[in-house]
Amino acid sequence: MKPPLTLIVARQAGFCFGVTRVIKLISEALERAAEDGQTIFGLGWPIHNTRLVHELEEKGLKIINDIGEIANPQKALLVIRAHGEQRPVLERALAAGIKLLDATCPLVARIRERAAAESAEGRRVICIGSAGHPEVQGILSCSSNISSAFLAHQPLPSWGRETPVSIVTQSTITEATFKAALAELAACFDDVRSFDLRCNAVEKRQAEAGKMAEIVDLMLVVGSQVSANSCHLADICRAKVATIQLDEVGQLKEFKPHIRRVGITAGSSTPLSIVREIIGKIEEKYTINYEEV
Ligand code: SF4
Repeated sequence: MKPPLTLIVARQAGFCFGVTRVIKLISEALERAAEDGQTIFGLGWPIHNTRLVHELEEKGLKIINDIGEIANPQKALLVIRAHGEQRPVLERALAAGIKLLDATCPLVARIRERAAAESAEGRRVICIGSAGHPEVQGILSCSSNISSAFLAHQPLPSWGRETPVSIVTQSTITEATFKAALAELAACFDDVRSFDLRCNAVEKRQAEAGKMAEIVDLMLVVGSQVSANSCHLADICRAKVATIQLDEVGQLKEFKPHIRRVGITAGSSTPLSIVREIIGKIEEKYTINYEEV
């Protein structure tokens, strides 16, 4: 007799439309590649999921770390991933004669456009987000004026109070992070414009995960450690309950005996097939009672 377990599966799990779009664009390009005599390149992983990237590599996608690795630029098509690329990199690729397949998510594109427009007015741009994240670096590269990344409780840019500052956001940051950082910035500068450009799909997922974490003994967050939105989901859950972030069903461990209610959510670059495999593995050991949040 299998022990009982209550399982709550997030409604918002699985690909967001930006990731669905990247996969579609790359898949179509790979189908046409032989006919067009082109090789499709990804500058880093176009999607933060190991299985998906390997599947695309099997179909012919070549992952590179620098466009200098492209031996025949005239026959290359370079995928620009959903969170965008730094402008100088795009310019370098175009100057080398490489064609671009722009899969930048429209929601990220609007942040980049806002950064460009604000800087064109002579304002300095601050992007609330992780300085080392490629999306943030890409957004800041669109500013023609001095710009900076910022997260709450970190050193503020050492600009004078009178500096006109326009604040934009990395798409995946949490509402709490946005509000905390904005409060610190608003206290430091007299002329502040702020643009909350967080992704609605991510926001809904985060809100749902936060609710689930309040009523379960354990949260499972399915998503890669290199996926910013998966890591943010795990952080939200971890603040409320024990949380395990995992990328594949093989990483699922035995639950401790006191675990009776488990929640499962997934980042926006996680295929639902992996979530289903994890649920299947849990079903092998428990009699599941499904609940909704
Ligand atoms: S998480 Fe949001 S911003 Fe990022 S790719 Fe998906 S839809 Fe676009």
